[in-house]
Amino acid sequence: MMGNWGAWRGRRCQGCGAVVAEGWLCAQCSRHMPRQTHSFCPCCGEIRAGAAGPPLVCGRCRLDPPPWSAVAFWGGYAGPLRRLLVRLKFAGELGLVGVLGWMMAEAVQARGLAADVVVPVPMRPSGLVERGFNQSVELGRMLSRRMGWPMRQLLTKIRDTERQARLSCAERQVNVGGAFVSAPVSGLRVAVVDDIMTTGATARACAWALKAAGAREVWCAVVARA
Ligand SMILES: [Zn+2]
Ligand SMILES: [Zn+2]
Repeated sequence: MMGNWGAWRGRRCQGCGAVVAEGWLCAQCSRHMPRQTHSFCPCCGEIRAGAAGPPLVCGRCRLDPPPWSAVAFWGGYAGPLRRLLVRLKFAGELGLVGVLGWMMAEAVQARGLAADVVVPVPMRPSGLVERGFNQSVELGRMLSRRMGWPMRQLLTKIRDTERQARLSCAERQVNVGGAFVSAPVSGLRVAVVDDIMTTGATARACAWALKAAGAREVWCAVVARA
């Protein structure tokens, strides 16, 4: 009992465990996880290393526009933000959904994006059994609550794909193509939610499925962009 004494005396920083008066993070953790406000492509979220400047659509998006209109994200997949996402996903620390969902919603709000429905990226059923939860569903629920948009699990994974982490970029594109189908979403603006966007291959496959099901617009919300 004594060991837990501090646990209920005050809020804890979700990054380092320090006691905080309010909010999710202490001042130091907040400083080390700033929201990315410049030097990224507003379309795909790609971060331009070293380049300071306003958000600018990248060459690749101009040449070959992705099936979504925007990617909202809090920051790069590195440092303390990466550690929080790893703790959520691989250590199953569901309590972190609060701070990470808040970050995602802040990023969405800052971009002024609007949706009729929030759709989380589904997991393969065996992955769900292994982990016990789908982090995209948990984050999507936070976004839904904050923005007042309903969340619907409209996407189904129809093909069990190889684990993404082991594959190269080109292999990922091939691997997830046609991996999802969507329930009808005629005329709706859809926010696709995932924890991280890496190559964008999964988001692409989801957006294609949603567009094929009649979506008027698809955009993506993630916590971090790799
Ligand atoms: Zn902290
Ligand atoms: Zn881009």
